[in-house]
Amino acid sequence: MIKALVMEQGEDGLAAAQIKEISEDSLPAGDVTVRVEYSTLNYKDGLCLSPKGGGLVRSYPHVPGIDFAGTVESSDSPEFKPGDKVVLTGWRVGEVHWGGYAEKARVKSDWLVPLPEGLSTRQAMAVGTAGFTAMLAVMALEDHGLSPDQGPVLVTGASGGVGSVATAILAHLGYEVAAVTGRPEGAGYLKSLGATQIVPRDEINEVVKRPLESESWAGCVDAVGGEMLARLLGQMKYGASVAAVGLAGGAALPATVIPFLLRGVNLLGIDSVMQPKANRIRCWHRIATDLPMEKLEEMVQPARLEDLPELGAAILKGGVKGRVLVDLG
Ligand code: NDP
Repeated sequence: MIKALVMEQGEDGLAAAQIKEISEDSLPAGDVTVRVEYSTLNYKDGLCLSPKGGGLVRSYPHVPGIDFAGTVESSDSPEFKPGDKVVLTGWRVGEVHWGGYAEKARVKSDWLVPLPEGLSTRQAMAVGTAGFTAMLAVMALEDHGLSPDQGPVLVTGASGGVGSVATAILAHLGYEVAAVTGRPEGAGYLKSLGATQIVPRDEINEVVKRPLESESWAGCVDAVGGEMLARLLGQMKYGASVAAVGLAGGAALPATVIPFLLRGVNLLGIDSVMQPKANRIRCWHRIATDLPMEKLEEMVQPARLEDLPELGAAILKGGVKGRVLVDLG
């Protein structure tokens, strides 16, 4: 038997979480079984833990957890053998396939990435999907020509998971980081991650009629979307890129095309879920080399399976700081 957080639907159709012992035989089909050591909490997990499954969960009973790291216990794949350390993010695991909120997970070998040298399973999940996506965003900005000499890079939703990791990576790579936050009382935390400038959310959230403002930012990792993204497009330097990662502030984009046409601004879409395996491997190696592990430790908030329903509701309200690390070991 293994311990798991299981979402079950009540007669009213709403799902609720229970911590249960389940049989290993009830795990879904897959060619690799992993002993999960750590999982985490991402914004999407908050949705999957909510009573309606955030429109992501298709059937119940369901084990959420969109990412995990652990050790291969058994494998029918030539790619993995028992004892290998692996990490999984994306592929709709934790949404349509059972995920990481259990002591074991059975998945397709194609979804697994071997842990790079120098990264523990604990560190991999302190990074998690949010941090993995932050690194994808930084890589996309670099691939579009960003370098530290071009000026400050804006990070929105900076105290969240994506924002915290993006801030620490960019600062480590020598960038000047301007962190946008609705929690100015957390300025000390953001500065400790390497932010050099704190931009209060209200300053950049306010809608302006002008499509262009002064050219302020050499690049941007945006976890917020909505009106904030629309506004900051008009503040980008000539030819600069914005990596659009999230929608914590809304999915609508009430913008004009003027920044694209007159300033050659680029809007780069970042998707972590269906990311091809070769780029996943590249990304995890970059995380192992370019994310300072002592900064990662500052972001970690430890949690147990039992804490997740409450934390899941909090992350949907923007109330979680940094990265929640769930220990299943
Ligand atoms: P978090 O909740 O940890 O962080 C989001 C942060 O955004 C909050 O901490 C807060 O930061 C800020 N924020 C929250 N609400 C608002 C609001 N209404 N207006 C402006 N800012 C707000 O989530 P994650 O970091 O895990 O994820 C961030 C976003 O990225 C989510 O939308 C998520 O779905 C998306 N995402 C996308 C992925 C992809 O593949 N594209 C993968 C992973 C995440 P502060 O208090 O500092 O202002």
